[in-house]
Amino acid sequence: MDGIEEITPADFVALLRLVCQRIAAEQDWLSELDRAIGDGDHGSSMARGWQAALDAVDALPEPLSFSAVCAAAARGFVNSAGGATGPLYATILMRGGAAVKDREMLDLGALASFFDAAGRGIRERGKSEPGDKTMLDAWLPAVAALDAARTDHKKLAEALNDAAEAAEKGAEATRHMAARLGRASRLGARSQGHIDPGAASAALLFRTFAQGVTEG
Ligand SMILES: [Mg+2]
Repeated sequence: MDGIEEITPADFVALLRLVCQRIAAEQDWLSELDRAIGDGDHGSSMARGWQAALDAVDALPEPLSFSAVCAAAARGFVNSAGGATGPLYATILMRGGAAVKDREMLDLGALASFFDAAGRGIRERGKSEPGDKTMLDAWLPAVAALDAARTDHKKLAEALNDAAEAAEKGAEATRHMAARLGRASRLGARSQGHIDPGAASAALLFRTFAQGVTEG
């Protein structure tokens, strides 16, 4: 995919597969993050959810469309009972997929729309706001970086790299936040000092997209 400016449905599936592999490789680290402030299942439930999503996508008939891929992957997440985050990824894929459903290719603008619509979905479905110490704290900076890159007419790979950096910075910033949602919120100020696992896995997604488009 080196240097591409438009993503086909097949490229998109390849990127989702890379994310699935990355999440599987990092699942122990993600669960370790979750053990500090939650129930310790984030890595395993994300790995299970992504695998179910890819299994559903791999069962699709050709030719692939963005809406069919997103709907199948979302179904995989719903059926995998992937902890608290699984339903959020189902929402991400449904909302993102709806935003690009008429596209045959995704350029930077369309991809920015995908992630923006997904972010709105996370916010509504998770009833979360920025600063609550959730995946939103990685996701929204990434969306903002994509928007800025589009305004600056950057190349797709460079834009995704900006998004990944913003997401990583956002995930790191959750370390200083007190959780206001979910199991971690019961710890109150004691949740400070730990990165939110959902923000960490969201940053992995953006980093993997950036690497996938850059390295092919
Ligand atoms: Mg958990």
